Amino acid sequence: ESRRFAQHCMSALETARLTLHEAESRLGDMDAIAGDGDHGRGMVRGIDAAFDAAVLALDNGAGAGTMLATAGDAWAAKAGGTSGVLWGGGLRAAGESLGDEAAPSPAGLVAAAQAFTNRILTLGKAEAGDKTLVDALLPLVRTLVDATGNGAAPQAAWHEAARAAASAAEATAAFIPKKGRARPLAEKSIGTPDPGATSLAMVAAAVVDRFTT
Ligand code: ADP
Ligand code: MG
Ligand code: MG
Repeated sequence: ESRRFAQHCMSALETARLTLHEAESRLGDMDAIAGDGDHGRGMVRGIDAAFDAAVLALDNGAGAGTMLATAGDAWAAKAGGTSGVLWGGGLRAAGESLGDEAAPSPAGLVAAAQAFTNRILTLGKAEAGDKTLVDALLPLVRTLVDATGNGAAPQAAWHEAARAAASAAEATAAFIPKKGRARPLAEKSIGTPDPGATSLAMVAAAVVDRFTT
């Protein structure tokens, strides 16, 4: 049971990897408008390192939590850039929240999403409206918690959450960046969504689709 869940996590990483490889140049172009243009490259380097570390951990018999935490460490070490530190730290926190013992309940998965988010808030100190990936992440988790609280089935709740992240990422186009490298050229980014929010929403949608269709 717990082994099977670790394999599901592996599949999620694989889906994220395909998604980010496919989006690499688009994310780079977005980041080049007001940032330094490396967001696509950084996400690809991060997910590749995370994936390789996860394969190794799984081969060595690690449980899902340890596997994800290790993958997060590799992501943070290899990606370079702000988003790498945040994604890596978030993955480690999600892994710590899940643990290695059993496959999580739906509530356990929601708790892992909250742990991912809280670690990113702590590390990056961005607030809602700063035009960062937090602007996609907060609506995702809020929707997940609300939908679950209103009795939605887990699959429906995750779908709704991924859709909320996608529209929130789109909505960042109107924002002015308050954090990160996009800040000095802030005005230029108006009209373009935040690259980090966009990649986060893409990964969320792809992973949710993979497990619910
Ligand atoms: P860098 O900015 O170091 O080149 P990336 O280009 O990979 O790193 O990532 C840029 C993205 O990181 C931004 O689009 C934004 O979403 C996110 N980001 C930057 N600073 C923060 C922060 N303090 N908190 C949360 N997200 C941030
Ligand atoms: Mg960049
Ligand atoms: Mg950079």
